[in-house]
Amino acid sequence: MSTAPDLTIIGAGPAGTLLALLAARRGNTVAVYERRGDPRSTTPEAGRSINLALATRGMHALDAAGVLPLLTPLLVPMPGRQLHPAEGAQSFSPYGQMPGETNYSISRVDLTRVLVEAAGGDARISLHFRQRCTGLAASGAPLLQDEDTGHQQEIAVHRVVGADGAGSALRKALAAMNAVKAGNALLDHDYKELTIPAVDGRSALATREALHIWPRHGFMLIALPNADCSFTATLFMPRQGSLSFESLAVAGAAREFFAQQFPDALAVMPDFDAEFATHRQGVLGTVHCVPWNLDERIVLIGDAAHAIVPFHGQGMNCALEDCLVLDALLADGKPWPFARFSSARRPDAEAIAAMSLENYGEMRDEVLDPRFQRQKALSLELERRHPGRFIPRYSMVMFHAEIPYSIAFARGMVQQQILEALTEDDAPVDLARADQLIAARLPPLA
Ligand code: FAD
Repeated sequence: MSTAPDLTIIGAGPAGTLLALLAARRGNTVAVYERRGDPRSTTPEAGRSINLALATRGMHALDAAGVLPLLTPLLVPMPGRQLHPAEGAQSFSPYGQMPGETNYSISRVDLTRVLVEAAGGDARISLHFRQRCTGLAASGAPLLQDEDTGHQQEIAVHRVVGADGAGSALRKALAAMNAVKAGNALLDHDYKELTIPAVDGRSALATREALHIWPRHGFMLIALPNADCSFTATLFMPRQGSLSFESLAVAGAAREFFAQQFPDALAVMPDFDAEFATHRQGVLGTVHCVPWNLDERIVLIGDAAHAIVPFHGQGMNCALEDCLVLDALLADGKPWPFARFSSARRPDAEAIAAMSLENYGEMRDEVLDPRFQRQKALSLELERRHPGRFIPRYSMVMFHAEIPYSIAFARGMVQQQILEALTEDDAPVDLARADQLIAARLPPLA
């Protein structure tokens, strides 16, 4: 075992590579094993989601490893939502009101490449591609299969981190030996990605810097901008039922559906028919796993521990923040922190999982509801009046990395009760009552 690195990480996605960088900065030797090819030299395999919303939590974590400046030129700002109602004019709804309250769109391929390049430049990190973890040997060491030769080996390890995504082979192996209890609660809605290409190098949608949403109650289309002025659109809808991916499988049905529901989007999707027919229909789910560790030998992070549905744009942000939390525990000088990480971080992962599920309703339905809009405007007013006590929940999650998800979730519930109480009828809001409720129910944020 003497040749084993301090840390062995399975999976070179955002979480695996960022943790490698942070752990190496503390002087640890790290080996990373990834089933896919090296993104520095191969065309990336098509994976889930072409681009991702990067928010403050993810940016803080990337900054801690020194990689944020490398990514900044690749980010497209998304300061708010561009709403495309079924009837009437489009409108822009800012995400927040304080300086810098912006999300950014980033290409998954660019993010992965930049992180792998940074890891490859650190002599303490060794990277091993096309190595698939197939489980755990009786000794507890990971089993790796070479994707080219089929050769299987048991690798020498000290401590192992499973950063191998929602379908984690390590999580399944830990569950099979009853070290953890794990399950994936699948949503009954799926997704499919489509392209809105740039036209003569310019955005085909009038507003480039926004997350576009076509809310339609039971389903929705969204589109995030790419650096080359194209957009990646994603349709979310039920898997089965009268209006569903299943019902659109009939020839011509998908085009007819888009022509009825999203005519402005269809008009800028020249490859719609071919893409709808061939692009993968992805499933969405929430991974629940208790605990995330096997004593101090193995721990799961990121999607491997707690994959969530994508409606808050936080899965990757949460996975990157995991690395920061684990890194901070590493820094406190106590023994390796896997059990402490699992118990300290799980309430936050559960909170963002719940908020992500709730946000689907907000995005596909409530954003156009007059009561929702009134409450949103009021929550911004209350934030201006009480900036140290009342921060809209969306802002706490996306722009306030210093507020743990579990606190954002708990305070968000209280805030929603206050908003409901203040908007029971259409009368002008009683701001003196608002001040009293906030003083009584929301202690100042630390
Ligand atoms: P992954 O990104 O899944 O990386 C896991 C890595 O492990 C991969 O490189 C994989 O090839 C490798 N691997 C897997 N199995 C093995 C194995 N057996 N052996 C070796 N290697 C293995 N999050 C956001 O923050 N913002 C968004 O806007 C957003 N949008 C999303 C949209 C969609 C449609 C989906 C599905 C997800 C979205 N997410 C978003 C979530 C985000 O994609 C994940 O939370 C994030 O990728 C998790 O990072 P990770 O490193 O934990 O796992």
